[in-house]
Amino acid sequence: MSTTTSSPASAGPIVELRGVNKWYDDFHVLRDINLSVGRGEKIVVCGPSGSGKSTAIRCINRLEQHQEGDIVVDGVELTSDVRSINAVRRKVGMVFQSFNLFPHLSVLDNLTLGPTLAQGEKKDEAEDRAAELLRRVRIPDQARKFPGQLSGGQQQRVAIARALMLRPQVMLFDEPTSALDPEMISEVLDVMTELAQAGMTMICVTHEMGFARRVADLVVFMDAGEVVEAASPDQFFGAPQSPRTQLFLNQVL
Ligand code: ADP
Ligand code: MG
Repeated sequence: MSTTTSSPASAGPIVELRGVNKWYDDFHVLRDINLSVGRGEKIVVCGPSGSGKSTAIRCINRLEQHQEGDIVVDGVELTSDVRSINAVRRKVGMVFQSFNLFPHLSVLDNLTLGPTLAQGEKKDEAEDRAAELLRRVRIPDQARKFPGQLSGGQQQRVAIARALMLRPQVMLFDEPTSALDPEMISEVLDVMTELAQAGMTMICVTHEMGFARRVADLVVFMDAGEVVEAASPDQFFGAPQSPRTQLFLNQVL
């Protein structure tokens, strides 16, 4: 099934996965994933290691390629056409577990490289916006440092600011706090919470169930490549339906 949406992009969900299937060789890693994310919605995706969470969100900006089903982002269907891939990537920001900053560039240059190089923004304008975003992620005084001179929590906040520089319509987070020392987790979650409160659409893979409770509109539980359960935090934590969800919650809570 391949349809180009003719309705205005702003009318429908901002991210939609319909019947998405993916295989790594003969390993069926995503099984009929359906997910519809409205503008401003916050989705938390959780589930055991190896359940396909990273693969699923990486398909949304084509870091991985799905083989069956449809993925539509802000009215653009992801196909192998490079124009659709570029159009989608302009709309989607991503933050990884391992920060993925450019180690040889200052914090400021990490933030301004994309906008100046890829979008032709003037350097001084990009630097003004970068300074503003560094204030927003609470590290206004780190612009001249290099990533290696920052703590993990600071680096991850730089990574969030860098993603925001490209003015994404939706932000994907893949276990953004999993590589951090415990005392740094909350400083990253606080920034993510503020972003959520500011209205950003977010899909977050995380095991931080307190964050899920506070911020998520919908909690999605994946196991073995499937969406097993998707529910409001109250329902998900208060009355999980599937035995697999119950088992998982017993392990992480
Ligand atoms: P999660 O993020 O939930 O831990 P992943 O999406 O990373 O899970 O991985 C899901 C499954 O796919 C795992 O069994 C993993 O080993 C496998 N997998 C991930 N990436 C690849 C790859 N590039 N090639 C083959 N198998 C992969
Ligand atoms: Mg993962």
